[in-house]
Amino acid sequence: IEKDAEINNVPIISKEIREYLKFIIRTNKNIKNILEVGTATGYSGIIMSEEIQDRNGNLTTIEIDGDRFKIAQSNFEKSNLKGIEQILGDATEEIEKLNKTFDFIFIDAAKGQYKKFFEDSYKLLNEGGIVFIDNILFRGYLYKESPKRFKTIVKRLNEFIDYIYENFDSVTLLPISDGVMLVSKII
Ligand code: SAM
Repeated sequence: IEKDAEINNVPIISKEIREYLKFIIRTNKNIKNILEVGTATGYSGIIMSEEIQDRNGNLTTIEIDGDRFKIAQSNFEKSNLKGIEQILGDATEEIEKLNKTFDFIFIDAAKGQYKKFFEDSYKLLNEGGIVFIDNILFRGYLYKESPKRFKTIVKRLNEFIDYIYENFDSVTLLPISDGVMLVSKII
Protein backbone atom coordinates (compact mmCIF):
# COMPACT_ATOMS: atom_id res chain seq x y z
CA ILE A 1 0.00 0.00 0.00
CA GLU A 2 2.91 2.34 0.79
CA LYS A 3 4.43 1.80 -2.67
CA ASP A 4 1.08 2.22 -4.41
CA ALA A 5 0.44 5.42 -2.45
CA GLU A 6 3.77 6.84 -3.60
CA ILE A 7 3.22 5.94 -7.25
CA ASN A 8 -0.41 7.06 -7.40
CA ASN A 9 -0.21 10.06 -5.08
CA VAL A 10 -2.52 8.67 -2.42
CA PRO A 11 -2.00 10.64 0.79
CA ILE A 12 -1.51 8.15 3.62
CA ILE A 13 -0.41 8.68 7.22
CA SER A 14 3.27 9.28 7.84
CA LYS A 15 5.49 6.80 9.66
CA GLU A 16 5.38 9.01 12.78
CA ILE A 17 1.57 9.08 12.80
CA ARG A 18 1.44 5.34 12.15
CA GLU A 19 3.62 4.66 15.18
CA TYR A 20 1.73 7.14 17.36
CA LEU A 21 -1.63 5.60 16.39
CA LYS A 22 -0.30 2.15 17.27
CA PHE A 23 1.07 3.47 20.56
CA ILE A 24 -2.21 5.08 21.62
CA ILE A 25 -4.42 2.16 20.65
CA ARG A 26 -2.07 -0.44 22.11
CA THR A 27 -1.72 1.35 25.43
CA ASN A 28 -5.42 2.19 25.79
CA LYS A 29 -6.83 -1.28 26.28
CA ASN A 30 -10.37 0.10 26.40
CA ILE A 31 -10.26 1.01 22.73
CA LYS A 32 -12.38 -1.56 20.92
CA ASN A 33 -14.55 0.25 18.42
CA ILE A 34 -12.94 2.72 16.04
CA LEU A 35 -14.36 5.19 13.52
CA GLU A 36 -12.11 6.43 10.73
CA VAL A 37 -13.04 9.39 8.53
CA GLY A 38 -11.01 9.08 5.32
CA THR A 39 -10.15 5.47 4.39
CA ALA A 40 -8.16 6.19 1.23
CA THR A 41 -6.74 2.77 0.26
CA GLY A 42 -6.96 1.27 3.74
CA TYR A 43 -3.45 1.81 5.08
CA SER A 44 -4.24 3.44 8.43
CA GLY A 45 -7.37 1.29 8.70
CA ILE A 46 -5.27 -1.87 8.60
CA ILE A 47 -2.79 -0.46 11.12
CA MET A 48 -5.58 0.36 13.58
CA SER A 49 -7.58 -2.80 12.97
CA GLU A 50 -4.52 -4.96 13.70
CA GLU A 51 -4.33 -3.41 17.14
CA ILE A 52 -7.91 -4.36 18.09
CA GLN A 53 -8.07 -7.91 16.68
CA ASP A 54 -7.45 -9.60 20.01
CA ARG A 55 -10.02 -7.31 21.66
CA ASN A 56 -12.73 -8.36 19.22
CA GLY A 57 -12.90 -4.76 18.11
CA ASN A 58 -14.49 -3.15 15.08
CA LEU A 59 -13.35 -0.55 12.60
CA THR A 60 -15.91 1.54 10.70
CA THR A 61 -14.25 3.56 7.96
CA ILE A 62 -15.75 6.10 5.56
CA GLU A 63 -14.45 7.09 2.11
CA ILE A 64 -16.02 9.39 -0.48
CA ASP A 65 -13.99 8.27 -3.52
CA GLY A 66 -15.36 5.15 -5.23
CA ASP A 67 -12.04 4.03 -6.71
CA ARG A 68 -10.19 4.33 -3.43
CA PHE A 69 -13.06 2.56 -1.67
CA LYS A 70 -12.63 -0.44 -4.00
CA ILE A 71 -8.86 -0.56 -3.59
CA ALA A 72 -9.33 -0.43 0.18
CA GLN A 73 -11.86 -3.25 -0.04
CA SER A 74 -9.34 -5.45 -1.80
CA ASN A 75 -6.58 -4.50 0.67
CA PHE A 76 -8.83 -5.28 3.65
CA GLU A 77 -9.72 -8.65 2.15
CA LYS A 78 -6.05 -9.49 1.61
CA SER A 79 -5.25 -8.49 5.19
CA ASN A 80 -7.61 -11.15 6.60
CA LEU A 81 -8.52 -8.81 9.44
CA LYS A 82 -11.86 -9.24 11.15
CA GLY A 83 -14.40 -6.59 12.02
CA ILE A 84 -13.91 -3.98 9.31
CA GLU A 85 -16.97 -2.16 7.98
CA GLN A 86 -16.51 0.16 5.01
CA ILE A 87 -18.89 2.94 4.10
CA LEU A 88 -18.81 4.62 0.69
CA GLY A 89 -20.09 8.16 0.96
CA ASP A 90 -19.58 11.69 2.18
CA ALA A 91 -18.72 11.67 5.88
CA THR A 92 -20.54 14.99 6.30
CA GLU A 93 -23.69 12.89 5.73
CA GLU A 94 -22.65 9.36 6.73
CA ILE A 95 -21.50 9.95 10.33
CA GLU A 96 -24.94 11.26 11.31
CA LYS A 97 -26.54 8.05 10.03
CA LEU A 98 -24.39 5.77 12.21
CA ASN A 99 -26.15 3.93 14.94
CA LYS A 100 -23.20 2.95 17.14
CA THR A 101 -20.67 4.44 19.50
CA PHE A 102 -16.88 4.47 19.41
CA ASP A 103 -13.90 4.51 21.76
CA PHE A 104 -11.54 6.09 19.25
CA ILE A 105 -12.22 8.37 16.28
CA PHE A 106 -9.56 9.09 13.67
CA ILE A 107 -10.25 12.12 11.48
CA ASP A 108 -8.11 12.21 8.34
CA ALA A 109 -10.17 13.65 5.47
CA ALA A 110 -10.98 17.07 3.93
CA LYS A 111 -9.51 19.68 6.29
CA GLY A 112 -12.15 22.29 5.43
CA GLN A 113 -14.77 19.96 6.95
CA TYR A 114 -13.01 19.12 10.21
CA LYS A 115 -15.54 20.95 12.38
CA LYS A 116 -18.47 19.06 10.86
CA PHE A 117 -16.65 15.71 11.08
CA PHE A 118 -15.73 16.47 14.67
CA GLU A 119 -19.17 17.65 15.83
CA ASP A 120 -20.98 14.70 14.27
CA SER A 121 -18.54 12.07 15.48
CA TYR A 122 -17.98 13.46 19.00
CA LYS A 123 -21.66 12.68 19.70
CA LEU A 124 -20.82 9.03 19.06
CA LEU A 125 -17.74 8.99 21.29
CA ASN A 126 -17.97 6.91 24.45
CA GLU A 127 -16.92 8.45 27.75
CA GLY A 128 -13.16 8.14 28.16
CA GLY A 129 -12.80 7.97 24.38
CA ILE A 130 -10.40 9.95 22.19
CA VAL A 131 -10.75 11.89 18.94
CA PHE A 132 -7.47 11.98 17.00
CA ILE A 133 -7.33 14.68 14.31
CA ASP A 134 -4.47 14.49 11.81
CA ASN A 135 -2.81 17.30 9.80
CA ILE A 136 -4.08 19.97 12.15
CA LEU A 137 -1.06 22.23 11.59
CA PHE A 138 -1.34 21.95 7.80
CA ARG A 139 2.34 22.17 6.82
CA GLY A 140 2.88 24.96 9.29
CA TYR A 141 0.72 27.37 7.29
CA LEU A 142 -1.33 28.12 10.38
CA TYR A 143 1.58 30.07 11.81
CA LYS A 144 3.02 31.73 8.74
CA GLU A 145 1.87 33.40 5.55
CA SER A 146 0.12 30.77 3.43
CA PRO A 147 -0.21 30.63 -0.36
CA LYS A 148 -3.43 32.21 -1.63
CA ARG A 149 -4.96 28.88 -2.66
CA PHE A 150 -4.76 27.63 0.95
CA LYS A 151 -6.23 30.73 2.61
CA THR A 152 -9.73 29.28 3.10
CA ILE A 153 -8.48 25.98 4.56
CA VAL A 154 -6.08 27.83 6.89
CA LYS A 155 -8.89 30.14 8.07
CA ARG A 156 -11.16 27.16 8.70
CA LEU A 157 -8.47 25.22 10.56
CA ASN A 158 -7.70 28.23 12.75
CA GLU A 159 -11.40 28.62 13.55
CA PHE A 160 -11.63 24.92 14.28
CA ILE A 161 -8.69 24.99 16.71
CA ASP A 162 -10.23 28.01 18.52
CA TYR A 163 -13.58 26.24 18.68
CA ILE A 164 -11.98 23.15 20.23
CA TYR A 165 -10.06 25.13 22.88
CA GLU A 166 -13.13 27.22 23.76
CA ASN A 167 -15.55 24.33 24.06
CA PHE A 168 -13.62 21.28 25.23
CA ASP A 169 -11.71 20.57 28.33
CA SER A 170 -9.20 17.87 27.65
CA VAL A 171 -7.28 18.88 24.56
CA THR A 172 -3.70 18.40 23.33
CA LEU A 173 -2.01 19.71 20.20
CA LEU A 174 1.21 17.92 19.28
CA PRO A 175 3.71 18.85 16.57
CA ILE A 176 4.10 15.27 15.38
CA SER A 177 4.37 15.01 11.61
CA ASP A 178 1.81 17.50 10.21
CA GLY A 179 0.27 18.14 13.62
CA VAL A 180 -2.11 16.09 15.74
CA MET A 181 -4.95 17.29 17.92
CA LEU A 182 -6.32 14.98 20.59
CA VAL A 183 -9.63 15.60 22.31
CA SER A 184 -10.93 13.26 24.96
CA LYS A 185 -14.38 12.89 26.43
CA ILE A 186 -13.91 13.15 30.13
CA ILE A 187 -15.63 10.64 32.35
N1 SAM B 1 -6.38 7.60 6.46
C1 SAM B 1 -5.81 7.26 5.18
C2 SAM B 1 -4.52 6.52 5.41
O1 SAM B 1 -3.66 7.03 6.12
O2 SAM B 1 -4.36 5.43 4.85
C3 SAM B 1 -5.55 8.50 4.36
C4 SAM B 1 -6.74 9.36 4.13
S1 SAM B 1 -6.46 10.63 2.95
C5 SAM B 1 -5.41 11.73 3.77
C6 SAM B 1 -8.00 11.45 2.98
C7 SAM B 1 -9.13 10.66 2.32
O3 SAM B 1 -10.36 11.28 2.72
C8 SAM B 1 -9.11 10.71 0.82
O4 SAM B 1 -9.07 9.39 0.29
C9 SAM B 1 -10.39 11.43 0.42
O5 SAM B 1 -11.00 10.92 -0.74
C10 SAM B 1 -11.26 11.20 1.65
N2 SAM B 1 -12.29 12.22 1.88
C11 SAM B 1 -12.21 13.55 1.66
N3 SAM B 1 -13.35 14.15 1.99
C12 SAM B 1 -14.18 13.19 2.45
C13 SAM B 1 -15.51 13.19 2.94
N4 SAM B 1 -16.22 14.31 3.01
N5 SAM B 1 -16.05 12.02 3.32
C14 SAM B 1 -15.33 10.85 3.24
N6 SAM B 1 -14.07 10.79 2.78
C15 SAM B 1 -13.51 11.94 2.40
